[in-house]
Amino acid sequence: MAGMRVTVVGCSGSFPGPESPSSCYLLEAEGFRLVIDLGNGSLGALQRYAPLFGIDAICISHLHADHCVDLGSYWVARQYTSDGPRPPIPVHSPRGTAERVTGFGGEDLASVRARFAFRDLAPGVLEIGPFLLTTDHMNHPVETFGFRVEHAGWRLAYSADTGETDALVRLAAGADLLLCEASFADGPDNKPNLHLSGRQAAQHAERAGVGRLVLTHLVPWNDRERTLSEASAVYRGPLSLASSGLVLGPGAPGS
Ligand SMILES: [Zn+2]
Repeated sequence: MAGMRVTVVGCSGSFPGPESPSSCYLLEAEGFRLVIDLGNGSLGALQRYAPLFGIDAICISHLHADHCVDLGSYWVARQYTSDGPRPPIPVHSPRGTAERVTGFGGEDLASVRARFAFRDLAPGVLEIGPFLLTTDHMNHPVETFGFRVEHAGWRLAYSADTGETDALVRLAAGADLLLCEASFADGPDNKPNLHLSGRQAAQHAERAGVGRLVLTHLVPWNDRERTLSEASAVYRGPLSLASSGLVLGPGAPGS
């Protein structure tokens, strides 16, 4: 049985860049497709890797637009497709997502709920298709969840957006791969409790003992090579930068 396949659909931080949409990751195993985050522009790129209506479930880490605004686009697609509205699919997300998506262009709350079956996230463990998810709160100005996703003994951790937090170290403990945000260039003036620098991402990866670190949520105005070198001074394992279209995990070609 092929293992989990993780496709980075979008890895641009805070807003889309010329090379990537905002945050979006496609996780596939056993024919099941789970999308984590649907940031600006990601619904377009997602269609390179999955049929528009081939998504089985969605997880949203938090309600900042660069992680969820394309739920509004996906509502339009599911509502107005030429062969009739599509049945609701599960959306695991913070409380208030239905209202947020209605604000993104849904006709009204009832019409949004008709296309998406919202399930409020809480710290803990849940099964979604073949995946076992563990979620916990991250350190960000709005309610934000990080995820640990396990399938067939392989473990992915995703930081979502976060400042420094032990919760991320716990979620990522022993993970085969950590997708960790690195929004900031390292420096003394970075706001606390908001985002991580490459160096801080690497510190979390070291403490968690992860097998591989991929830096993501890369903000277009930052110098990527600087972010990478800040991280490489701290994290000694395999380290790279995310890019749109990157395929990872035991189900990736050639792995
Ligand atoms: Zn955010």
